Amino acid sequence: MIPWRSASFGGMQGLDLPSRKARTRKLAIESAALPPRLLMPLRRYGGGRAEIRVQIGQQIRGGEVIAVDAVDVPLHAPTSGRVRAFAETPEPCLEIEVDGDDLMLEPSPLAGGLDAPPEAIRACLRAAGLVGLGGAGFPTATKLAAARGVDCLIINAAECEPYLTADERLLAERSPEVLAGVRALAQATGARRVVVAVEDDKPEAITALQTAADDDIELHLLPRIYPSGSERQLAALVTGREVPSGQLPLAIGVLCQSVATAWAAGRAVFAGEPVTRRIVTVAGAAIDRPGNLEVRLGTPVGELLRERGLDPSALAELRLGGPLTGRIVRDHAAPIGATTAAVLALAGAEAVGSEPEQPCIRCGACAEVCPAWLQPQLLHQLIRAGDAEGAGAAHLGDCIECAACVWVCPSRIPLLDDYRAGKHELARRDAARREAERARLRHERRQARMEREREAAAAARKARLARVNAAVARARSRTSES
Ligand code: SF4
Ligand code: SF4
Repeated sequence: MIPWRSASFGGMQGLDLPSRKARTRKLAIESAALPPRLLMPLRRYGGGRAEIRVQIGQQIRGGEVIAVDAVDVPLHAPTSGRVRAFAETPEPCLEIEVDGDDLMLEPSPLAGGLDAPPEAIRACLRAAGLVGLGGAGFPTATKLAAARGVDCLIINAAECEPYLTADERLLAERSPEVLAGVRALAQATGARRVVVAVEDDKPEAITALQTAADDDIELHLLPRIYPSGSERQLAALVTGREVPSGQLPLAIGVLCQSVATAWAAGRAVFAGEPVTRRIVTVAGAAIDRPGNLEVRLGTPVGELLRERGLDPSALAELRLGGPLTGRIVRDHAAPIGATTAAVLALAGAEAVGSEPEQPCIRCGACAEVCPAWLQPQLLHQLIRAGDAEGAGAAHLGDCIECAACVWVCPSRIPLLDDYRAGKHELARRDAARREAERARLRHERRQARMEREREAAAAARKARLARVNAAVARARSRTSES
């Protein structure tokens, strides 16, 4: 367990955490070895599954499209090999047997580069399979299209969780490439103001940015406070404007993108490379040789752990992602995905989530650090009592799932699980309400149609009767005349 103190800055409250970055922040990025097999995750943003576009047994080269999701974002092979199988565990994925030749398709940079129109840049990023590499994996082209004409593009270089140094190394070593991507993202949205926001404890990254940036890009130094890198907090810290409750930063004219996404965008536009690799911090006391590695997507985490000297007897908890927002994994076959910024092999007291839950003692520590100014203990009680509507009324929707409350809770309550369950329940009820409303409208339309048909039938009957009566009258009149 990492100790904590509450912290605040410029109207934001949060956590002051030990950074635990010293072991990796000065280590240059290294290429991870090619693993013997890759497991390409098929699950996409929102829970859907990408559709496979290759055959089992097919020989492929790196950069070939192997699957496409529901919004036409492709998944590319990270290296050459043979498609071996479709697997459901550790998650739905396509297994590629790596041949070691690392043959890649010829890259095709975007014609015109930065002079290309915004829609051509967005199409290039979609074709490269770019999704948000710093967050939930939302398709970048879709996000950029929704942000056309936005005032301010913020590149999120806060990297505020302990241990994580992948973005810091990207900036320290590859700032010109990152900034090329930043300009492509700015061109794709038309943003007038472009800001790279970075925590002030990263001097090497800051110097590299200052050297590489021109007047078109501002550098904004953030205080070291968790979670300054969450989009809502970041937008407020940079612009001084609050994002209204229940809305996204776009509501105040701000679009946020991560450093990793900007780097990958630059590679896609200017080098014609699809998204097949990312930088991953491998750290934790159970690792002998921590580092920042350039890793092919789909690499089983066990391969990285072996490469960097895992001590299995010391391993207490394995996390993909940061210690607060990352997920615990037990299966060492779990693959590195586009959003995996870190692999943490935590030992002893570093482990975060293994203690049993105790009842809430109403200490208020969770409320003291919640950056969204919520009452986490109240949300927890409402959700456990089955009152998701009550939690919704208490602004559950504004929870940014930063897990600061979980971190400080002395009762070790898995609050984040509660909030996700509550949001899921609210979304389910919302969908059920919308479906009931659609059914009501369908019923009303059907009733109205039946009523119109009844009226039309009655009118037709009446007209028929009138015609018969007229014919009878004419016949009688002819009979009486004769
Ligand atoms: S997870 Fe939600 S409730 Fe908990 S501190 Fe973060 S924003 Fe607040
Ligand atoms: S920090 Fe935990 S124990 Fe304290 S009030 Fe919040 S939920 Fe309850």
